[in-house]
Amino acid sequence: MPIKYRISEDDCIGCEACIAVCPYEAITGPPFVVNAALCDGCGVCAEECGTGAISSYDTGSENESFGSGPTMGIGITLKNGG
Ligand code: SF4
Ligand code: SF4
Repeated sequence: MPIKYRISEDDCIGCEACIAVCPYEAITGPPFVVNAALCDGCGVCAEECGTGAISSYDTGSENESFGSGPTMGIGITLKNGG
């Protein structure tokens, strides 16, 4: 279950510290966001962020996974009504 990190816009003060430390250049901004496709889940950004705006989440429990990797017991509903 891959761990990714994300930025809470409300807590972010735009100091750019996370951008400076991310080894994968996964963070861009403003507005400051983590590109989940590039994020390795190393957590360096969260340690560096002084406001606690960056937190981890498990992509296995979110709808943000792009279907790569093994998934078991997870129901996926595709809505192609558009
Ligand atoms: S967890 Fe690591 S790879 Fe992901 S955005 Fe933060 S510093 Fe970059
Ligand atoms: S380190 Fe934290 S407060 Fe600074 S830009 Fe990144 S998310 Fe925002």
